[in-house]
Amino acid sequence: MSERRIGVWLIGAWGGVATTVVVGLTALKHRLTDTVGLVSAMPQFANLDLADWDELVIGGHEIRDTNFATEAAQLHKQSHVFSEAWLSKLADELQAIDARVKPGTLHGVGAKIESLAGTPARQFLSETPGAAVDRLARDMDRFRKDNSLDQVIVVNVSSTEPPVDDSVRSLNWTTVEQQLKTGGPCPLPASSLYAIAAFRHQFPYVNFTPSVGTNLVALEEYAQQQNVVHVGRDGKTGETLMKAVLAPMFANRNLRVMSWVGHNIFGNLDGKVLDDPENKANKVRSKDHLLTEILGYKPQTLVSIEYIESMGDWKTAWDHIHFQGFLGTPMVLQFIWQGCDSLLAAPLVIDLVRFTEREARRGGSGIMGHLSSFFKSPMGCEEPAFALQFEQLLAWAKDVSGK
Ligand code: NAD
Repeated sequence: MSERRIGVWLIGAWGGVATTVVVGLTALKHRLTDTVGLVSAMPQFANLDLADWDELVIGGHEIRDTNFATEAAQLHKQSHVFSEAWLSKLADELQAIDARVKPGTLHGVGAKIESLAGTPARQFLSETPGAAVDRLARDMDRFRKDNSLDQVIVVNVSSTEPPVDDSVRSLNWTTVEQQLKTGGPCPLPASSLYAIAAFRHQFPYVNFTPSVGTNLVALEEYAQQQNVVHVGRDGKTGETLMKAVLAPMFANRNLRVMSWVGHNIFGNLDGKVLDDPENKANKVRSKDHLLTEILGYKPQTLVSIEYIESMGDWKTAWDHIHFQGFLGTPMVLQFIWQGCDSLLAAPLVIDLVRFTEREARRGGSGIMGHLSSFFKSPMGCEEPAFALQFEQLLAWAKDVSGK
């Protein structure tokens, strides 16, 4: 029996993805389910000594006032996921994890996300960004101490923030540090403040959302200074995964893609937040840049994301690809992807925790480019094609296992 204890600190702890991570990990611990959907459970990664389910302890930050049982029951009722028997069997454990969820920060999240917040998070509305980082860092470190953890992996699975100004991207760490110290205004959004809090204690940070997180000059500098690993952005779970697989096929057959239209409909809380044009801009950008990178030219593209409440957590993406074949002949590929959003995302979050913990344990630092196959807008990777990104993960695994 291993003596390792690893914390998983979820930002957005009571959201759909996080709740599914918690239910999934608890079910895995009790051997109620198999490992289908988990990349890290594939034989290629079997000898990496990755963290086992029993070693993972969960906590997190949240801004809404709810709990895991309510959120899991809602997913079950509206989207027909999880078994009712499991939920009653796991109820006590879910309640114990609720106690480790602390109020998050609303700094720089925009009006749409702020409107979701409950009283515990609202009481910190007037806090300066510097004070917010101090408080968030304290929560994370207390979690480590109270649970005797060897490591804490911080994962951002909170709602998508509006994009930041370009001027914020080029700020250096000295300027940001000064802004936080003096208690003045700081233009960094919550996703970045959480990362600063994590880095303060040398905790790795994974950004599963399109929010900017650590994808800033200042944060990359701070990560280097703290010798800590990080990665992002935006989990590649459905339609964009299909694009990353299919676009190389058109490129490698010299078929010219003239237009690629993708319409997405879904009805969960993420969809509700993305219904706001400010928040949606970040997601559309993340879904749209890939084709030009893979094809080497820009076809006409359209990405639409619409909130349709009755769909719940089930997303339908309909893609229409109009391409030109030999002798100028126009042809069409259409596909329909119907996936349950949180059930696609949660295993990848668990994979990212296990791979990140392993890289940190072997002394890695900086951006983990080898995890690019998990992200729509991967940091530290120029290669946009899924198959080649996956090769990078396999190469890393070989290196770690010394084979
Ligand atoms: P969700 O809306 O169900 O959950 C987000 C949670 O974050 C909510 O509980 C919300 O209250 C909380 N939150 C918002 N702002 C916060 C803050 N500043 N601090 C702490 N908590 C905060 O969304 P979801 O479906 O769980 O998705 C989570 C994120 O993952 C979204 O950004 C989404 O775009 C991204 N993502 C999801 C998928 C997928 O589900 N397939 C794929 C890629 C990316």
